[in-house]
Amino acid sequence: MKVNPNYNTKETLLALYNKPLLELVFEAATIHRQYHNPREVQMSSLISIKTGGCSEDCGYCPQAARYNTGLEAHKLMTVDSVVEQAKNAKANGSSRLCMGAAWREVRDNKDFDTVVEMVQAVNNMDMEVCCTLGMLTEEQAQRLKNAGLFAYNHNLDSSKEFYKDIISTREYEDRLNTIENARKAGITVCSGGIIGMGEAVEDRVGLLLSYMEMETPPDSIPINALVAIEGTPLEQQKPIEQWELIRMVATTRIAFPESVVRLSAGRTKMSMEAQALCFFAGAGSIFAGDKLLTTPNPEFNEDKEMFDILGLVSKEAFADGEKPVSHPDPIIEAKKAKAVAREKELEEASFQPRKVTIE
Ligand code: SF4
Repeated sequence: MKVNPNYNTKETLLALYNKPLLELVFEAATIHRQYHNPREVQMSSLISIKTGGCSEDCGYCPQAARYNTGLEAHKLMTVDSVVEQAKNAKANGSSRLCMGAAWREVRDNKDFDTVVEMVQAVNNMDMEVCCTLGMLTEEQAQRLKNAGLFAYNHNLDSSKEFYKDIISTREYEDRLNTIENARKAGITVCSGGIIGMGEAVEDRVGLLLSYMEMETPPDSIPINALVAIEGTPLEQQKPIEQWELIRMVATTRIAFPESVVRLSAGRTKMSMEAQALCFFAGAGSIFAGDKLLTTPNPEFNEDKEMFDILGLVSKEAFADGEKPVSHPDPIIEAKKAKAVAREKELEEASFQPRKVTIE
């Protein structure tokens, strides 16, 4: 993934972001056409495999246990129900399934084993699998890679400076480490941000600058507009103007010509015309389906209609990278072998004739 050397400083990125809108969009559209097929937009689905009860304090998130948002917490879904939802998403045109769990970090327990099985199952359905599970060690990333994970999502959310105003329970550095761990395991990186949280334009550009500073910038950069949820600290934030989202998409497109820019949360507030400008300016993916984790999102049908009107086509899975191979997971296999041995042991024990001692 490369960066645009003409816009790799705060000053140049700011000047780019503040260009007259139509010039900015035109420049983005021109770059987009050099690196991507402008008619192709990937449809992705995002499901919440474990909802709510999170110990973190991300100021925008209704899943943080400490905020009273009325959100009902749910335990981890089963592999079968994830497969069911993946089938439905695929039938509706999605080529990528993102699975999100409201965890601070991944723990090496039974739930993680289940997620590994989910990754194997969905990868075997020929869909790109992305996970967003919180912080991750290199070993855990390796396990997910071995299971067939295509992408790991971990957003930086905003600039390093503004981040502290939104989250206090973990550091910006922690997020960078997780991204690095996914990268080291050979998983593609999906990382982006949210605009409309009360940040300055400098912070939006600061987010992009953080990606510029990485050895390899993210393969995929989701751009979200805040959906202010009652009960969260950001509940009073006014929705951003559609133009701001278009500017952010276009600036990201130009700064990272090869990455896929994903138009993510906040689409329900956008007109089709505004979304069309985002596609023109380089958005190469949307999230489809009525829910984005826990926030509302346009229905599949509405998006299909939009694609028809705009002449867009859904991008196939693995157009940007080879399909990973799902290997058996050594930890799960060892547990299964242990369980079989135990069962055999019990079986044999129950067939042992009782020893009777005759005096
Ligand atoms: S964004 Fe993720 S880590 Fe932050 S509170 Fe929500 S679920 Fe937890």
